[in-house]
Amino acid sequence: MNLKTVLGNCEDNSLSGIKWHALKQSIVKSLLSMGDATIAELSTDLQSSVPTVTKALNELLASGLVIDSGKISNSGGRRPSLYSIAPESAYFLGVEANRSSMSIGIQNVKNEFVSIDLNSSFILENSYESLLEFCKRINDFIDDSQVDRSLIIGACINLSGRINSKEGFSYNYFFDENRPLVEIISELIHLPVFLENDTRAMAFGEYSQGVVEGEQNIVFLNYSWGVGTGIVTNGKLYYGKSGYSGELGHWPTFDNNKLCHCGKSGCLETEASGWALVEQFKKALSEGKKSHISIDPHQSPMQMYHKIISGALIQEDNLCIDLITKQCENIGRILAGLINLINPELLVIGGDFSQLGDFVLLPIQSSLKKYSLGLVNRDVVLKKSILGRRAGVIGACYIIKNRVLFPEDA
Ligand SMILES: [Zn+2]
Repeated sequence: MNLKTVLGNCEDNSLSGIKWHALKQSIVKSLLSMGDATIAELSTDLQSSVPTVTKALNELLASGLVIDSGKISNSGGRRPSLYSIAPESAYFLGVEANRSSMSIGIQNVKNEFVSIDLNSSFILENSYESLLEFCKRINDFIDDSQVDRSLIIGACINLSGRINSKEGFSYNYFFDENRPLVEIISELIHLPVFLENDTRAMAFGEYSQGVVEGEQNIVFLNYSWGVGTGIVTNGKLYYGKSGYSGELGHWPTFDNNKLCHCGKSGCLETEASGWALVEQFKKALSEGKKSHISIDPHQSPMQMYHKIISGALIQEDNLCIDLITKQCENIGRILAGLINLINPELLVIGGDFSQLGDFVLLPIQSSLKKYSLGLVNRDVVLKKSILGRRAGVIGACYIIKNRVLFPEDA
């Protein structure tokens, strides 16, 4: 008996068999939700007698799915045992791909990583060959992890761009107009698959295991090559009708006649993003501005982008910092509009640029204060992401766990 079989359909079709299976399912779900519990707590939670819960729990203990995790610490008297789900009874796979790398991790039931690989070099392209390579990497990772694939309950895949999570389509990468991408990937990696927008998964990672300390209304900014937000309201991710919410980078901001890669012009990203920074840096050099950072014309824009960020971070290069400060003022102005609109309690700055710390946080904070309503601004606390590059994979593992185990809440 493993988590999958207990959460699956009952094999005994008799009424008593179905009832017994349902009770064991309820015990397992309660333990997953509470972390650990005593028999008395389970009995109260499930409104079932102590002897009945004890009997069902003994079967789960005998199968190894539930473990005795020690005595409860209280004062005096006989201390009752605490029970929890065996950490290795099921696993959740989180995968993230961006333009130049991919990250994969496997978490157990306790949301502890048993295997993780961050930022392996990978070129994400909108082609079937790239998709095949992507899935091969995932399969190789699972094989190398020593985790029994049959115990992996599902995978959440994070991709950039427009993702319709409900229908399982990705519109910017691995696009197939005839079949949902989740179906194709599921066939290739032999697991149930959920598709998620990369920024939304990062937001949920910070919410679940990162900088968030109980706040329920959060805006997470992913300031990287592109710019996007993930929004959590009342403890749940906000998707909008089809899952396209949060596209802050395409907020119509400037009358600058600059084309954005989305097809529109004047989007926030045309002046404030990783790809805009590369253009701005090259232009500044061509106008005679001085910098410690040199650009090799043979380098890809992505390589230049990382070089400019590290120029600001490690060498504190004035030109790099000035350009980024200007970008942050623009981002802060648009974020001011966003917080006026939704009144969050926490704004988390994440993504590649967040490693610059105060060089990014201070100009954003200043611009937020300048442009947002005073009362709304006083409500919001600005913090830097603490998960950094792990945020997306952590978020993915939590998202697939919640989707499979608590679909009613997802
Ligand atoms: Zn755009």
